Amino acid sequence: MPRCLSHLTSPELADAAGRPGSTVVWPWGACEQHGPHLPLATDALFADQLLDQVLDRLPSDRPIWRMPLQPFGCSPEHQGFAGTITLPATLLIDQVVAVGRQLAAAGFQRLVLFNAHGGQIGLLQVAARELRAEVPSLAVLPCFVWSGPTGIAELIPEPERRGGLHAGLAETSLMMHLRPDLVGPLPPADGHRGGTPPAGWSLEGAVPTAWMTRELSASGVIGDPRQATAALGSQLAAALVNGWCELLDALLTSDWPQSG
Ligand SMILES: [Zn+2]
Repeated sequence: MPRCLSHLTSPELADAAGRPGSTVVWPWGACEQHGPHLPLATDALFADQLLDQVLDRLPSDRPIWRMPLQPFGCSPEHQGFAGTITLPATLLIDQVVAVGRQLAAAGFQRLVLFNAHGGQIGLLQVAARELRAEVPSLAVLPCFVWSGPTGIAELIPEPERRGGLHAGLAETSLMMHLRPDLVGPLPPADGHRGGTPPAGWSLEGAVPTAWMTRELSASGVIGDPRQATAALGSQLAAALVNGWCELLDALLTSDWPQSG
């Protein structure tokens, strides 16, 4: 595992934290049902493996280290399916603030939350603001793995681009590429239950609803994975890794956050 913070000794960590622009990336997953064909750790595995590929490719002199994977997240929308383990939002906010406070005290200047679970984007943004308010010296960047890199949407055709929210074409293809041994037989489409949101509203996006998976899907899949391929997964991985290499390198070669 490249650039692993917890593999450093205490003196090595003190040196790392003291470097100008010292940055920690914390990969965030979840433990939640991903339909009958993908593992519970799907989001966790994506955050973990994509981050390692990104860190492997960044120039070796960049002051960046990764935290161990956060394996549990906030997934109340997937309750009712075996295997989903969700933690309270307040506990996770407290965890981010407590860890971030101590990273800042050690001397680190930036914390990137590298999150692969769409259901905790808002929560980590709130946690990041709480942390910033308490520790203004620490830049906090709450990122969602699937947002930011360009070229992702172009690889996913409609209606899957908007409707493939969970264990659909994109996630299934990416897992076929990264860990084909963990992909089971593709499920038949089970269709959406519970109708569609009112005109102008949507499950996600500008005017969202707080959906629960069991209201939408019997299988736990929201989307259609039946056209998934490892080849598409390879294209998605390339776009994600390239995109995050560019974004993180832009951060690492900047003077963000400017004091004042
Ligand atoms: Zn997922």
